Amino acid sequence: MKKVDLIIKNAIVLTMDANLNQYSQGALAVQKDSIVDIGPEKDILEKYASSELHDCEGKVLMPGLINTHTHVPMTLLRGLSDDLRLDVWLLGYMMPVEREFVTPEFVELGTSIACAELIRSGVTCFNDMYYFEQVVAQTASDIGLRAVCSQTVMKFPTPDAHSYEESLEYSKNFIKKFKDHPLIVPSIAPHAPYTCPPEILKACTDIALEFDIPLHIHISETKEEVEEMRKENGMPVVPWVKKQGVLEAKVVAAHCVHIDEGEIRTLKHANAGIAHNPSSNLKLASGIAPVQKMLELGVNVGIGTDGTASNNDLDFFEEMRLANFIAKGSSGDPTVLPASQTLVMATRMGADALHIGHITGSLEVGKRADLIILDLNTTHNSPHFRHSPDGVYSQIVYAGKSSDVTDVMVNGNWLMRNRVIDSLDENELIQRSQEYAEKIDKFIIKREKSIISKLIAIGGASREESFEVQVKVAINDPQPIIKKIDSGELIIVRTRHYHEYDTYFDFEDDSEGRLRFREDHFIEKNGSISQVRTRLTHIGPSREHLFPKDILLSRSRYLAPADQSLRFYKEYFKPMSETEIEKDRLRYLAEYKGEEFFINLDKMIKPDLGFFLEIKSRTWSEKDAEEKSSTILELLEFLGVSRGKKITKDYIEIVEEK
Ligand SMILES: [Zn+2]
Repeated sequence: MKKVDLIIKNAIVLTMDANLNQYSQGALAVQKDSIVDIGPEKDILEKYASSELHDCEGKVLMPGLINTHTHVPMTLLRGLSDDLRLDVWLLGYMMPVEREFVTPEFVELGTSIACAELIRSGVTCFNDMYYFEQVVAQTASDIGLRAVCSQTVMKFPTPDAHSYEESLEYSKNFIKKFKDHPLIVPSIAPHAPYTCPPEILKACTDIALEFDIPLHIHISETKEEVEEMRKENGMPVVPWVKKQGVLEAKVVAAHCVHIDEGEIRTLKHANAGIAHNPSSNLKLASGIAPVQKMLELGVNVGIGTDGTASNNDLDFFEEMRLANFIAKGSSGDPTVLPASQTLVMATRMGADALHIGHITGSLEVGKRADLIILDLNTTHNSPHFRHSPDGVYSQIVYAGKSSDVTDVMVNGNWLMRNRVIDSLDENELIQRSQEYAEKIDKFIIKREKSIISKLIAIGGASREESFEVQVKVAINDPQPIIKKIDSGELIIVRTRHYHEYDTYFDFEDDSEGRLRFREDHFIEKNGSISQVRTRLTHIGPSREHLFPKDILLSRSRYLAPADQSLRFYKEYFKPMSETEIEKDRLRYLAEYKGEEFFINLDKMIKPDLGFFLEIKSRTWSEKDAEEKSSTILELLEFLGVSRGKKITKDYIEIVEEK
């Protein structure tokens, strides 16, 4: 008799190996961290003696589940903001809160909570992507879980780096530290092609190749992402990343919702793994990944929960079931993705997708002892049919629940026994997470009150306090004014013609001011549009009346290039009302009496208000503005326009008065 450390007996053993071998009264022998034998109980008990004997009492013994895509520290952001579009959710809520709160302590706590949840869900290995990934790796391995830990790199400053160069440096140090760890596979994660320009993709690929580690990336999660890529680079996302050399690494591509057959073939050819995230894709309405096609073409597809801020839980049983249901529901074919294949994706194929199939993912001799025990003798899971070997897979996928998991072992160590996790104090974790929630609540409540702080939170806005003095006069015919401008008595610095589309956002509280989203189309002499520019401006509320009553002073405080769409800003700022203004503008920058002024001749198209002359000047102080206002009135007279009643206020006020 050979001596081993542990024998697990009296189990329905599902090996999930290539032949899906099962042993209805099976046993498994563990020596140190590995499986040394597996088979009918009788054979195992005859061959081995062990110091520890675990009787499964007829429960199911199977490999641990593999969560192929998640962001574990985000458990602390669970439920922070839901029912939003991906960009508003990510750029408006997740990233600003992360910049403010994510520290090593946050990551340690979030990871601990996630590990408890993963263990209870039967997950023995997860593929993560976050910041301070070394803390994720340390925490997970202290608890005893196996993980592929991918350090995030992107073009924006992140909670753990001011620049991407810093992230790359961090990544290298982390990878070197964990390179030969028994539980952790370090990895690098260029976040996504839309947050990583080619130089970042290349640098990350170089690191992945240098250290022979997986490269984890989000690919084609939304339709917009693919459209944007086509517009900018004339190709979809997969060929683009291939062009940057990314597919030479051991890639794990998360999502792949909007990829075509050619792209699937490209990924297959590169032996890339795909992480399918049904909950997240459905909840964020990103779409349904063509999983059936991926499987047909032989790609390794695993299942992932994604982060808890977009899911909102790490319940892997729910994830398996959804993966299965949406494949059937979207194809109209109930025979696609049978339960057994779903469970293969959740185990062996998931491990293959992460490029660690030689270590884990099935119960086979030589692999690590990463296993779970399920109690299927529950009300929701009875009775059991055994006329087909598939019956047990159906039970697990269609009726099973996370609470059926009673015992979890990783690398030969028990992490949960009889539903008790000894290494974690879950009550303490819940309490500490609530303390974070209260701090984050305060931050959000304060931010939501102010338009300016919301503007700053999404980045890119520069505080640029400027004052504008302006006068606006309704005119019947712009021609005499154009003649006067061209007469040579004025110095014309520059002339421009453009079409302007403005959307003003108004808010309940007037003192918050208003936001203007402006889209300028520059029109060339031949009438073609040469350039489109969008800008977001916060216009302060004060309209001081220290000036002659004809003059309007407005204070513009924040100016930002509008990186996002109008739709994004509407959903993010949630204005009380909106006003649209469209005009054709001839703009002159002119010098008059030694000072520069903008002279705008506007044809108001929406609303149809006829022609206006506007003279304005931007100054950096109120005092300068006051001095300029008298010159503006002189310039108005010079252009032959009389003051008096015709002088009006802002366009938007004209519209409101109407
Ligand atoms: Zn993700």
